[in-house]
Amino acid sequence: MAEQSLCATRVSRSRVGYRYVSPRGYVYVTDHDNSHANDRGFVLEHVKVVTDILGKPLPKGAEIHHIDEDRSNNSPSNLVVCQDSKYHKLLHQRLRAKKACGHASWRQCHVCKVWDAPENLHIHPKSKPYHRPCMRATWARYRSPEKAHAAYLRRKLRRASA
Ligand SMILES: [Zn+2]
Ligand SMILES: [Zn+2]
Repeated sequence: MAEQSLCATRVSRSRVGYRYVSPRGYVYVTDHDNSHANDRGFVLEHVKVVTDILGKPLPKGAEIHHIDEDRSNNSPSNLVVCQDSKYHKLLHQRLRAKKACGHASWRQCHVCKVWDAPENLHIHPKSKPYHRPCMRATWARYRSPEKAHAAYLRRKLRRASA
């Protein structure tokens, strides 16, 4: 009987809120009623803030972005719900660009590392952006078109076998 009440005390104490910050800077709080809580009742604070406002669980695949990139700042005005991780990644890409060169839509050439407007770059969803002349210069390092083409074939083979 004593043990049972001890346990009950512990549970009710955890219900009113333990709070800890993970090594990666995320804040966890206890909310046993939250559908995103783990079996110990812990839920990410930013998830709790958003789902408390929504009054329902987050849609499947949705992620929450911290506008100031401070994972411990979980005030509602600092949180944006992203419909999926792709959109979330795009937000971060635009933030990085904005910080690096002042233009959110610019991309970085992965050869010369210079940020530039998208129309000046070759952009393909499956490869990193580059300036065509920069890419041509790296190919020129192979000196002959035959060697460049052989290198291209080797890369293609490697990709096919990976
Ligand atoms: Zn984010
Ligand atoms: Zn370049």
